[in-house]
Amino acid sequence: MTSLDDLPLRDDLRGLTPYGAPQAPLPVALNVNENTHPVPDAVASDILDDIAVALRDVNRYPDREFTTLREGFAEYLGHGLSADRIWAGNGSNEVLQHIAQAFGGPGRTAFGFAPTYSMYPLITQGTGSTWVAGTRQPDYTLSAEEAAEQVAAADPDIVLLCSPNNPTGTPLGLDVVEAVYEASRGVVVVDEAYQEFAPRDAPSALTLLDGRPRLAVSRTMSKAFAFAGARVGYLAADPAFIDALRLVRLPYHLSALTQAAAVAALRNAETMLAMVDEIVEQRDRITATLEALGYAPHESWSNFVLFGGVSDPKATWQSLYDKGILVRDVGIAGHLRVTAGTEAETTAFLDALASIESAS
Ligand code: PMP
Repeated sequence: MTSLDDLPLRDDLRGLTPYGAPQAPLPVALNVNENTHPVPDAVASDILDDIAVALRDVNRYPDREFTTLREGFAEYLGHGLSADRIWAGNGSNEVLQHIAQAFGGPGRTAFGFAPTYSMYPLITQGTGSTWVAGTRQPDYTLSAEEAAEQVAAADPDIVLLCSPNNPTGTPLGLDVVEAVYEASRGVVVVDEAYQEFAPRDAPSALTLLDGRPRLAVSRTMSKAFAFAGARVGYLAADPAFIDALRLVRLPYHLSALTQAAAVAALRNAETMLAMVDEIVEQRDRITATLEALGYAPHESWSNFVLFGGVSDPKATWQSLYDKGILVRDVGIAGHLRVTAGTEAETTAFLDALASIESAS
């Protein structure tokens, strides 16, 4: 049988492992931070109407500039943004890949504070750039001073700041973003994939965009918008930054059907986002119950909770799996990560965990 070793693969890709969160068909799937609430019926039929219209023109290539969608994102984000400061892709992963293609590459580096989103190293390496991991405090927080020091020492071409951070849920102060920007010569990306789950009064890094042409803020419709299957992510930055991304995107990268679905979903933003408060409530219930069970949950501003105090994460993961519940072993010793589900899913997880008694 042919193996990768038999193929003329790029040397720098040898030995890498692809992204591979299990996609097991279990009744309670709380492992990839999706929104487990389905799109409401009324919104689904509105989206379908728009897709039906787009389908009639599907013999033609779509609007390469996805103008209507960019206008929709500008309006949704507010902060005085206009469409010329917006970019989008098939998931924020693709948006991040565009950044890596435009600003990274062989001989260049991307930097992030570990542990952080597992795709950052993979997207970096996929473009021939080198991943450099910085460090956090034991509770995963970062001060502006230490962050700036590490970035200045590493001198990367790209800095990826995940806010709130995945897989830890940790909030990131805007003072850290400002300090890192000052300390770097490269582009600074604040990945706000989970921003909608943060406290309402927590300011977004969008407030820092003016006057900072190397700064970009990325978002996704996969989490709060319950749109993970549609694959839509986006970004706000200076118009020149957007021009850089145009150089590397494939022509017509956002299909007409994707654009139609996303525009219709954005038109229904209020209904699409109605579940955010309920999810935050379930997240806080998870935190409180985990504490009561003797685990050590970390503060989370996202739709998931990382918790320590698990004596044998692999065994606990398997026991939960056997009870029909999928959580994530993110490879941090003594820890597991769980996504906040519906009330019923969350109850199923908490009851199952209570019956296992694996707190150390
Ligand atoms: N950023 C972070 C921090 C994430 O956790 C994820 C998904 N898990 C993404 C980006 C990518 O999401 P998507 O490609 O679905 O927009």
